Amino acid sequence: STPAAVTSALARATKIGLLVKGGAALELIGAVRTMAFDKTGTLTEGKPKLAAIKTADGYGENGVLTIAAALETVTSHPLARAVVAAAQSRNLDLPVIEDARTIAGAGVEGRIDGTLYRVGAAKRLDVTPDGKTAKWLSDQEEDGSTAVIVLKNDQIIGALALRDTARGDAKSALAELNSLNITPVMLTGDANRVGKRMAADLGIDYRAELLPEDKLNVLAELRDDPKRSGPVAMVGDGINDAPALKSADVGIAIGGGTDIALEAADAVAVRDRLGDVVNLVKLSRAARRVIR
Ligand code: ADP
Ligand code: MG
Repeated sequence: STPAAVTSALARATKIGLLVKGGAALELIGAVRTMAFDKTGTLTEGKPKLAAIKTADGYGENGVLTIAAALETVTSHPLARAVVAAAQSRNLDLPVIEDARTIAGAGVEGRIDGTLYRVGAAKRLDVTPDGKTAKWLSDQEEDGSTAVIVLKNDQIIGALALRDTARGDAKSALAELNSLNITPVMLTGDANRVGKRMAADLGIDYRAELLPEDKLNVLAELRDDPKRSGPVAMVGDGINDAPALKSADVGIAIGGGTDIALEAADAVAVRDRLGDVVNLVKLSRAARRVIR
């Protein structure tokens, strides 16, 4: 049966918007030594904005944006929303897309009047940009923006920089976890330069350019790391990261917006604050001290 200290900790957690799926999960959270965080929507606000457009000769900004936005209407990826929103704010009319499909962790492709167009990460689309474009992309990434290219067949017709900002409480929450002897690690599918920049700003370890399945492998690696020897938690917003939330020893969803997150996670921080993940650890540790 569940110890009284755990039962009362569960009740207290619920009162402050921390829904934990049972006493065993609550106890485990206090033992966590490594906490992996999804980048987009978890450490960042998850609402990127279009920050810059680069065009190839013969194309205008609106032409490139129109094609990119038409492609992006087929997905609700945060980057896609940013591109579509930018096109809407410029009142662009979007053409009809045929045969559209998302390429997981890479971008979107589809046809307009029979011609194949793609938008996404150059590396993932197996495209090597020319020197000038490569320089523009790496400058944007150095600056912390996600840079994607727009292709007509295999030709680059433009590129977009999308900027997401770190959550205001990210740095302090991560510092607090460190002081609780928990190592936070950021996991992202974004480019290494972008991951590196954000990780440096937040003072956290990071792993970048991860495909969705790579994230599961990294979680397993962290769990097997003899230096840490303890359960590994995954913190995510439930968008794209449900498999990782499930596969970690403890999955913590933040925001609780999606049913998928509620289903995949062991705990949900309903108030959508990173500081609540810290509160959850503290509550669990307090309960463990009473029963051990
Ligand atoms: P994250 O780990 O931040 O959730 P994803 O795995 O979803 O990232 O995507 C990895 C990278 O693939 C993005 O940084 C971007 O370069 C590219 N990408 C993915 N989806 C899209 C999209 N809909 N439009 C443009 N680029 C995309
Ligand atoms: Mg996310």
